[in-house]
Amino acid sequence: MSVTACRGTQLRCRSWRAEALLRLLENVLEVGERPEELVVYASIGKAVKDWDAYRQITDALRRLGEDQTLVLQTGRPVAVLNTHAAAPMVVSAVNNTVGNWATEERFYSRLAEHKTIWGGLTAAAWQYIGRQGVLGGTYELLRAALGRHFQETTAPHRWVLTAGLGGMGSSQPISARMLQLSTLTVEADPAKLSRLHATGGLDLVLDDLSEALAAVTTATAKRCPSAVGLLGNAAEIFPAIAASDALPDIVTDQTAAHDARYGYLPAGYTLETWTSARERDPGRVERDARASMAAQIRAMLELGDRGSVVFENGNNLRVQASQVLEEGERGRVFAEIPGFMEAYLRPLFSRGIGPFRWMILSGDEHDMKVVDDLASTMFPERPEIARWINLARRHIPLQGLPARSCWLGYGERSALAVAVNEAVADGRITAPVAFSRDHLDSAGMTHPRIGTEGMRDDSDGVTDWPLLDAMLLAAGGADLVAVHSGGGGYSGWMQSAGVTIVADGTQAAAIRLRRALDLDSGLGVIRHATAGYGEALDAVEKSQQPGAHGEPLNLIQN
Ligand code: NAD
Repeated sequence: MSVTACRGTQLRCRSWRAEALLRLLENVLEVGERPEELVVYASIGKAVKDWDAYRQITDALRRLGEDQTLVLQTGRPVAVLNTHAAAPMVVSAVNNTVGNWATEERFYSRLAEHKTIWGGLTAAAWQYIGRQGVLGGTYELLRAALGRHFQETTAPHRWVLTAGLGGMGSSQPISARMLQLSTLTVEADPAKLSRLHATGGLDLVLDDLSEALAAVTTATAKRCPSAVGLLGNAAEIFPAIAASDALPDIVTDQTAAHDARYGYLPAGYTLETWTSARERDPGRVERDARASMAAQIRAMLELGDRGSVVFENGNNLRVQASQVLEEGERGRVFAEIPGFMEAYLRPLFSRGIGPFRWMILSGDEHDMKVVDDLASTMFPERPEIARWINLARRHIPLQGLPARSCWLGYGERSALAVAVNEAVADGRITAPVAFSRDHLDSAGMTHPRIGTEGMRDDSDGVTDWPLLDAMLLAAGGADLVAVHSGGGGYSGWMQSAGVTIVADGTQAAAIRLRRALDLDSGLGVIRHATAGYGEALDAVEKSQQPGAHGEPLNLIQN
C-alpha cells in the first residue's frame, strides 16, 4: 500500500487540527524509506505499529472532536477520551521501558513478537520531513567545525569523508555543498546512491576508490566543490583511505550504526546475504557488524592522528564499536572522537536554538514562500536566519509536503508561528501550517552519547527534562505530544519528547502556539542555565528585557 499526503483545502476530519495530524502521518510515509513496511528512517523507525493500527488511527482522526484526545501506545490507538478544547488531540508514548528491561535483547524479542516498535525520534510522532529535517543541523555542525578548526566560513579547498546516504545521512553532501565543501560519501546500497544522484544531491557516483579520491582531489585543487558518492562498505573504505596518502579535512559517519542487527552492513556481506544471515543467526550478524564498526573507528582514529578533524554525528558508532574494542582503544575512542553536540552545537541549544520546522499542509509552494519570507525578515538581529532560508531555497529539493527546518531559538519560534497564524487567518496563506521540531532539541532529548554527552552538571543520562517538557507541552495545549524511548541499539540510551502545533488561523491556535512553543524552548534554556552554561544564563536575562521575543523566563537559581 502506498500513501501520499492529502493536499489542498478540503477537510476529511472534523477540524483542521485533526486533519493536520492525519496529513502529517501520511506525509511521513510519503517521504519515508520503506513505506510498505511503515518504516520511515533510522533503519527500523516506524510511523505506526502495523497496517491495522494505521487504519484505526486514520479512522479515529477523521471522527475526532476538538474536545477529545486520541491516545496512542507504542504505535497503536488504545482510546479516544473526552478532554477539552485546549488539550492535545493526540498523545503518544512509544517503547518507554524501565531501565533494567530496556535492553537490546528484550527489544528485539518483543519486536519479533510484534509487541513493540522503535518509533525513531520523529517517525512515530509524524514529524519526519525527509532529509530536509536534519539538513539545517548538519549545516550548523559543519559550519561550526569549519569555524572552530580552520577559522573559515566556506572552504572550497577542503573535503569531508563520511558514509551513509539513508533517510538522514543523505543530508550530508547537500549541507556540505552549502559551505562549498567537497564530500566523499561511502554508501553500500546502489539504490541510495542513484536516488540522491537523480535528485541532484550527488554530482558523481563511482565504485572505485582511486577514482573517487582523484575526483575530490581535483575538486578541492580547482576550488570547485563536488559531492562524490562511492559504492562500498565504510568498514573497508575508511581503513583503505587511512592507509593511503589522502587526508580528508573532516571525517564522520552517518550509517545507521546505532543498530548492529538492522542498521550497519558488516564487511564481507552483500545486501542480500545480510538479510538471510539476519534470519539465520542474528547474533553473528551483530558481532560481525560491531567488528566492522571497530575497523571503521580505528581508521577514524588513524585519520585523526594524521590531522583530520573527526567527530561522531549522532549514530552511536562509538558505543557499538567499543563493545568489541580493547580497553585502551575504547578509552581513545571516547577521548579523541567527540560527539557532535558537545563539540559544536551546545552553545546554540543553550539559547534554545535548535531544529524548528514547519510543514505546509496545503502542499502549495506559494504558502511556503510566505512562511519563508516571514522567517527571513522577522529577525534582522540574527542575519544567519535569512542566510539559511536563502541557502535552503536554492539547495534543498522538496520532499513530500513543502517543509522547512530552520534553527530558531527561544521566543523566535512562537513569534514566527503567531505571525504565520495571522497570515492563515487573513488569507495570505491558503490553509493551516503545522509547526514542530526534531526531538533532538534543547529540552526534548536525553541521550548520553548524543544530545546530552558531557553536560556540565553531569546530567548526561537524566531523563527528567524531556519528561518535564512533555508535561509542559500538554499543559500548553500542543496538538500532539509524544514521548519516545530508544529501540534496537538505542535501547536504554535515550528518552525524547516531541511536539506538533497547528496554526489554523484561530485565536485559540495563537494562544496554543505562543504558550507551547515558549514552554518548550524556554525549558531548554532553563535546563542549560541550571547546568551552568553562560549562554543560557544570558538568554534568561535577555528574555526579561523589554521587547524581547517570548515570555520572560523566571529561572530559580539554586
Ligand atoms: P537509514 O537506515 O535510512 O540509512 C543508513 C544508510 O547507511 C543506508 O543507506 C545503508 O545502506 C548505509 N549503510 C549501512 N551500513 C553501511 C556500511 N557498512 N557502509 C556503507 N553504508 C552503510 O538511516 P538514517 O535515517 O540515514 O540515519 C542514520 C543514522 O543517523 C542513524 O543512526 C540515526 O539514528 C542517526 N541520526 C542522527 C541525527 C543527528 O542529528 N545527527 C539525526 C537523525 C538520525
